[in-house]
Amino acid sequence: MKITFLGTKGYIDSRSRRHFRHTATLITYKNKKIMIDCGIDWAKKVWKIKPDAIVITHAHPDHVWGLKEGSPCPVYATKTSWKSMENYLIREDQRKIIYLSKPNTIFDITFNAIKNEHSLIAPAVSYRISTPQHTIFYSGDVVYIPHVKQALKNAELYIGDAATITQPLVRKKDNHIYGHATIGTQLTWCKKAGVTWAIFTHCGSQIVDHDGRKVAAQIRKLGKQKGIKAKVAYDGMVINL
Ligand SMILES: [Zn+2]
Ligand SMILES: [Zn+2]
Repeated sequence: MKITFLGTKGYIDSRSRRHFRHTATLITYKNKKIMIDCGIDWAKKVWKIKPDAIVITHAHPDHVWGLKEGSPCPVYATKTSWKSMENYLIREDQRKIIYLSKPNTIFDITFNAIKNEHSLIAPAVSYRISTPQHTIFYSGDVVYIPHVKQALKNAELYIGDAATITQPLVRKKDNHIYGHATIGTQLTWCKKAGVTWAIFTHCGSQIVDHDGRKVAAQIRKLGKQKGIKAKVAYDGMVINL
């Protein structure tokens, strides 16, 4: 399994050379390319990437607005996300459903969707992504994952939400919390579940607006304290499992 971090920026105005485009990640396996999310920065550009499928975490602009004018391939999303994407110019035969109740097989990769807490308007999912050899966990935008120990169990790698390193971006409404968990909190989830490797994408201004090396050192240190190899992704970064 090859993981390419196409874009690594969150929904913020500023950008840098390392974090230039909205977060989108490409999983390549057995010559098939599956793209996770397609935000507004990827409108038109998604056609050049030539994905074989696109899988959506949630319907926020930095994750789906790149598909408003249509898609070059089938798009997989939960029924709730499809409701927000109803008027997109995606062909009817390209609209595929991600089920929460069962594993979703896309080419030779299994996507298990786990409902998380992030947004009231655009309910989000995280994915356990598996091949016979490897399992990774892709958090998407997230503030809370129910039964996190079970959700992350045996994952070789946790790909997390870098919207904030230390300042909580959490709000409460109607018994729900929404926003983004800090990198520190997510590292605690990893520790609980015995996951020893974490890469963070969807970078917020705490990362994009600051010295990359200093931030990288800070995150490495946060990880080390919990026995986790932790790193920030940058646009174009490739990981081979
Ligand atoms: Zn986002
Ligand atoms: Zn979001």
